[in-house]
Amino acid sequence: MASMKIGFLGCGIMGVPMAKNLIDAGHEVRVWNRTSEAMKPVVDAGATAMESAAKTCEESDVTFVMVSTPEAALAVAKASAGGLSPGKGYVDVSTVDAATSRAIADIVRNAGARFLEAPVSGSKKPAEDGALIFLCAGDEDLYRECAAPLETMGKAHFYLGDVGQGAKMKLVVNMIMGSMMGAFAEGLTLSEKCDLDPETLLRVISLGAIATPMYALKGPTMNAGKFAPAFPLKHQQKDMRLAIALADELAQEMPVAAAANELYKRARRDGCDDEDFSAVIKAVKKA
Ligand code: NAP
Repeated sequence: MASMKIGFLGCGIMGVPMAKNLIDAGHEVRVWNRTSEAMKPVVDAGATAMESAAKTCEESDVTFVMVSTPEAALAVAKASAGGLSPGKGYVDVSTVDAATSRAIADIVRNAGARFLEAPVSGSKKPAEDGALIFLCAGDEDLYRECAAPLETMGKAHFYLGDVGQGAKMKLVVNMIMGSMMGAFAEGLTLSEKCDLDPETLLRVISLGAIATPMYALKGPTMNAGKFAPAFPLKHQQKDMRLAIALADELAQEMPVAAAANELYKRARRDGCDDEDFSAVIKAVKKA
């Protein structure tokens, strides 16, 4: 596999393992993060620390971006524009709404570069294992050129068409996940209140048609009251908010997602922003 000069902007829970996997695969990685200390694990793994987002793009063939919110992704794109030019690629893998992704595409294309949105399905562990699922849309030639890094960081990648389609697919998936987690939290709490053993409930679920890797992974830690963040709750609530806004635009009712969103909002108000999204069970227990 030919190695590429890859830029990586954003060293959070997801960005760090993704960038490290690129280094392990032999790519030359340049890294930048708003708070410079967070670059340390990636630099220790062999990346070059850069002074700015623009400089990272300028010295890379393709730059990946993994930041928190639509506002952050837009700010990073604006800060990157000066380093983009024809021939370069800019791949935003953050979870944002379709309108923000289109605004980022405009910034990148106006600088003469090519744009791919590629939000990911999968959390911290799949990021560490190189087992993410990329939901890509935008410039198809860039998608093809990125096959090697996408295969390094993920187990599957889909090309979904025009910019916005990847963002929408990601929001649909996370809306389903957030609703499922809300129902699961209610079930665990109800079982406890009616003197059923929550461990036995997990075993029963694991053997039936509603068994999912998510319930198997999160159930034991939720029962133990442990919420170390793999997917921060504030980001799950952002995704519920963005998915509900998408349904609003299309006048589609989503009563289940809307009810689950209220639980995430209550958990945020109660200070669970930086805990795992499974901490939504705290809001259920309080209700
Ligand atoms: P995170 O740990 O909270 O990291 C967020 C990153 O965004 C940090 O590098 C942060 O920089 C940066 N950032 C925030 N605001 C910024 C701004 N205005 N300008 C520049 N950089 C900014 O988040 P994460 O869990 O890695 O998630 C990143 C994205 O992936 C989110 O869109 C999330 O929804 C999505 N996602 C997450 C998971 C998951 O399981 N964690 C799974 C799939 C998708 P600082 O260090 O300076 O704060």
